[in-house]
Amino acid sequence: STLVSQPHRIAVLPGEGIGPEIVAQALKVLRALQGPGIEFEINEAPVGGSAYLLTGTPLPQPTVELALASDAVLFGAVGDPCFDHLETALRPERAILGLRNALGLFANLKQVSVPAELAELSPLRADKVSGVDVLVVRELNGDVYTGQPRGVRVAPDGLFTGEREGFDTMRYAEGEVRRIAHVAFKAAQRRSKRVCNVDKANVLATSRVWREVVIDVAREYPDIELTHLYADSAAMQLISNPGRFDVILAGNLFGDILSDAASVLTGSIGLPASALLGEGPRGMYEAGHGTALDIAGRDIANPLACIRAAALMLRHSLGRNDLAQRIEAAVTSVLRQGLRTADLAGGSRVVGTSAMGDAVVAALR
Ligand code: ATP
Ligand code: MG
Repeated sequence: STLVSQPHRIAVLPGEGIGPEIVAQALKVLRALQGPGIEFEINEAPVGGSAYLLTGTPLPQPTVELALASDAVLFGAVGDPCFDHLETALRPERAILGLRNALGLFANLKQVSVPAELAELSPLRADKVSGVDVLVVRELNGDVYTGQPRGVRVAPDGLFTGEREGFDTMRYAEGEVRRIAHVAFKAAQRRSKRVCNVDKANVLATSRVWREVVIDVAREYPDIELTHLYADSAAMQLISNPGRFDVILAGNLFGDILSDAASVLTGSIGLPASALLGEGPRGMYEAGHGTALDIAGRDIANPLACIRAAALMLRHSLGRNDLAQRIEAAVTSVLRQGLRTADLAGGSRVVGTSAMGDAVVAALR
């Protein structure tokens, strides 16, 4: 092509623990994809506990500014119990909340796929999970986690009058539902074009509004098949028939539970990838797991979740579904070759973090 394309600007925030090691592998893969019309401008900045040690804050202002000036953020991992004594605002995990707020991210996508080669690791029967590929789209800002009023009070009436009671408020405004529904339908357009909406519209007023809005938004996506499940039934189906799902759309509470349940299907914490999205294309991408301090610095961590997060970044923020598919195919290919990191026990060849990254790069060509 003779078109001059701008490089995709990627902010890389490695964090601590195994964050830097796995991010380095994802960067290898991204750099290997570069060529005519595919250019990445990669800038690194400190975040989390390592940023606190350097600057006195887990989210330095230049890091926020870099993220805001980028098309996407590739995030390693943050968190270390050695910072537990700090006040909440200074703890590593606060950086994630700060970035979410600064970038206006309200959607959490968790991608869980079980390649046939790894199906025997799953707690479910291999034939049930082989080839499963589920994307859980969870709303992150609203629902019972943030609804007001909330608190602890003396029960004003009823059987337990005078006792202490806790209360929270489940709530969703139409606009909040509308924007997360758009995220789910757009994601489905780049996948198998099926959205399963999860709520409790049989008992909850919040869910009735939620479902009405989802149905309304669906009219803008005639190419997408929309179905509905109550949350209890969705949990059962995720265990008994996970292959039926493509995109699952849920609010904060049900999405929290279902995305963790879905993650377990892979049988390995080193595989699921996660994305945080907002109104526009910009997003933040990370492995679904944490800092794994027990194995940090030993070149044994599994980099595949982070490499898959880079694929999600290409698909959802950089408009390069083609490159995302190339990465995903390369990951499948190295697994088919029998390459395994230590966490994926039982494989024929155990390789380290860096060798796994190299293998994915080699499989790209
Ligand atoms: P949090 O999610 O709050 O950070 P955590 O620190 O307990 O919790 P992880 O850091 O995800 O969770 O680690 C949990 C376990 O999984 C650890 O034993 C860790 O070594 C292992 N683990 C996590 N990620 C990987 C990986 N990429 N490769 C191999 N093992 C991993
Ligand atoms: Mg951790």
